[in-house]
Amino acid sequence: MARKLGQHFITDQRLLKRIVKAASLCSDDVVLEIGAGYGSLTELLCNHAGKVIAIEKDPVLVNHLNNIEADNLKIIHADALEVDFPYFNKIVSNLPYQISSPITFKFFKYGFDLAVLMYQYEFAKRISAQANTRDYSRLSVAAQYFADARILFKVPKNVFKPPPAVNSAVVSMRMKKTPRGALDEDFFLDVVRASFAHRRKKLKNSLLANLAINRETLKEVPISLLNRRAETLNLTEFIQLSNTLITA
Ligand code: SAH
Repeated sequence: MARKLGQHFITDQRLLKRIVKAASLCSDDVVLEIGAGYGSLTELLCNHAGKVIAIEKDPVLVNHLNNIEADNLKIIHADALEVDFPYFNKIVSNLPYQISSPITFKFFKYGFDLAVLMYQYEFAKRISAQANTRDYSRLSVAAQYFADARILFKVPKNVFKPPPAVNSAVVSMRMKKTPRGALDEDFFLDVVRASFAHRRKKLKNSLLANLAINRETLKEVPISLLNRRAETLNLTEFIQLSNTLITA
């Protein structure tokens, strides 16, 4: 159970304070927390924000959370990937790592002002990776399209109870305002996904194999670009590519 739910709890008060401080909370803020656990972060958030919405999947932990005395706390017993989120403007969470990717894409769908999130260190590096590096991936392009993301600090395994197998890092993300450049953001994400489906293949082959487009449409894109591999395109080039394909 613990493994499947990624349960690694933080009790270190200094670390908790550092996370909360990074979110610059005030009484106007409505904070979403995914995976509240025993509520050590939750309680601190309640002291600094106007409202806190804590989502937790494990019924045993929800019972613990219900003992927190705070009239600005709403606890939702649900799987964060399945449930609709109520209104929020900030996100602060020590995330369950096994849902890092889908939950991050869900955050982008909803939109937010600021997110302060604990991720697995490798995942945090991928979020902020630049083109032509080993960590550059679909996640890097999507994250940089929607947000200005940076690693705030690394966190060693031993501050968690029980310690996870991997190192961690706290990442801050500020969502970029619209318009962000893509004429159709869902299509842009499809193009990025298709491009990285085979990262060693030429873009031309990846797009034909993984996107519902034909060779005629691809003629609108410069051949020099189509002969490159996904990992060499920067964000601006992916935006241009998706806009060319959608207007072709
Ligand atoms: N915030 C707490 C616990 C972090 S561990 C702390 O820092 O101490 C991750 C938490 O996410 C666990 O409590 C786990 O039960 C919960 N969790 C795992 N998968 C979840 C999901 N899909 N939806 C909501 N909560 C989930």
